[in-house]
Parts: sequence; structure tokens; C-alpha cells
Amino acid sequence: MIEVNDIRKTYGKVPALDGVSFSIARGEVFGLLGPNGAGKSTLIRMLTCLTRPDGGSASIGGHDVVTNAAAIKSLVGVVPQENNLDRDLSVEENLHIYGMLHRVKNLSHRIDEVLAEVELSDRRDSVVTSLSGGMKRRLIIARSLLSDPAALFFDEPSIGLDPQIRRQLWEIVRRTARSGRTVLLTTHYIEEADALCDRIGILAKGKLIALGSPAALREMVGPYVVDRIDDNGRLLQHISGTREKAHEIARNLENGCTVRKTNLEDVFVKLTGERIE
Ligand code: ADP
Repeated sequence: MIEVNDIRKTYGKVPALDGVSFSIARGEVFGLLGPNGAGKSTLIRMLTCLTRPDGGSASIGGHDVVTNAAAIKSLVGVVPQENNLDRDLSVEENLHIYGMLHRVKNLSHRIDEVLAEVELSDRRDSVVTSLSGGMKRRLIIARSLLSDPAALFFDEPSIGLDPQIRRQLWEIVRRTARSGRTVLLTTHYIEEADALCDRIGILAKGKLIALGSPAALREMVGPYVVDRIDDNGRLLQHISGTREKAHEIARNLENGCTVRKTNLEDVFVKLTGERIE
């Protein structure tokens, strides 16, 4: 569904994207994980025809992002990070106006469908100012779904939401993929990438340094990690291995050790020597 081949972009002397390649299948939830400045937004801007690559190519549904922007725009829905809803209008009015502007067919029927999809059917007459943060985020998703896009892009889907609301949102994102849509999201939340994505591409300084399912990425480190911590709570060392080995190391090291399961941050640390957050 989405193909990215050796894509490059340089601002000044700094490569924002330095030869990135991957493909995403239909119905897949694919996450781009990386710290600020890794190149995630640049990649999304290219795939939505807002920035031209300096080199390489990318296509969605077989349409090139440089030469066929019109086709891409009808295939992709973008869920922005910022809340750009009309605050004084109701849920339904927001969807109606957006749908009219974008010439959505069978608009009333689509509004019913997207409200059900994001579990906001009972709030259709509520004014936006009366909605919680999580509901506003769901309404923005509903709006992106109105045109029934084949692919949906999320930029940091749950930034600023508390953990419980975040989980609700993940369920909605998963549901959009189960209905056959391809989902591409950017995140710097390890937990979000781990819980939500079928596959993850880890970006660092414009390069894709790892690609695979969360489980396959953790395999690169080993299933368990021992954190050695000094008296001031500073991390001294990570040691990875099997569960038995990790417990054995922790026993031998006595104080200041915790044994835990490996997470994607450990993968990033192993590959770059730096932390994501
Ligand atoms: P991320 O989304 O992962 O935080 P970005 O794609 O925004 O990363 O940025 C990648 C790199 O490209 C950063 O070094 C950033 O400063 C640089 N960059 C991004 N957009 C521009 C721009 N319009 N002009 C100059 N530099 C930019």
C-alpha cells in the first residue's frame, strides 16, 4: 500500500532523511518511532505531498507522491496533532461543514458511520467546548474518516492525553486498521509504539536503524534487562539476557539492581547509545 524507496531530504547541510526505505501493507498499523528531530514529520510531510524529496521515491496505492498529488490526497486522511475544530459548533455541525467543503458523498450517512466508529454517536449535538480532550481527539479522527480514506496518518496520536484516555484512543486506531485501512503513525512514546503497532520503524538522525514487529525488535536485545542503579538513583549499566541469566546477574551484583522485561527504549539505546525521551 505504501512504498518508500531510499528517500532523502536535506535542510541546509543536515540530512533530515538520509536514504530511508520501507513498505507498509494494507490493514497494517505501522509506527515511526524516534526522538525529536529524527525525521518523522519530514517523512509524513513527503507522503502527504507537502514536502518534495531531494532523492528517492515514495508511492501510496501505486501513485507517486511527487507526480500524483491529487490521487494521494483522495487516498489519505491526516489526523493532525493540533485541535483545529470549530469550538462553538456541535460535533455534527463540525463534521457537516468539513464534509461539505470536501464534497463527501452521502454525507449524513457517513456522519452516522464515523460517529459510531469513534464512539461519539451520543454526543452529536454537543458543542465542542463541552467535550473532553479525548473526545475532541476522537472527533478529529472522525472528521479524517469522513472521506473514507484507504490510509490514515496520525501525528503523535495521543500526545497530551492521560494514560487511560490514551488506551481508548489506541483501540479506535486499531479498529480503523481492522476495517482494512492502512495506519501510519509517528510517536515518541515507547509504550504507544509497543501497544499499538504491528511493525515499527525506528528512526534516528534521518536513518531507519531498525524495522520489525515490537517482539522482533526486543529480540535484538534479549528478553530481560538488569538495570544497575547507583545510590543516587542514576543508571550505571543495562545488562540484557534471558530471564535466568538476568536474575543470576542481579543476585551476584547484590544492591541497586532491578530486573525487568526489555522494552523498545532498550533497543534504541543498544543501537544508538542514546535515549528516546
Ligand atoms: P521529528 O518529526 O522526528 O521531530 P523532523 O522531521 O521535524 O523530526 O526534523 C528532522 C530534522 O530536519 C531536524 O533536524 C529538523 O531541525 C530539520 N527540519 C525539519 N523541517 C525543517 C525545515 N522546514 N527547515 C529546516 N530544517 C528542518
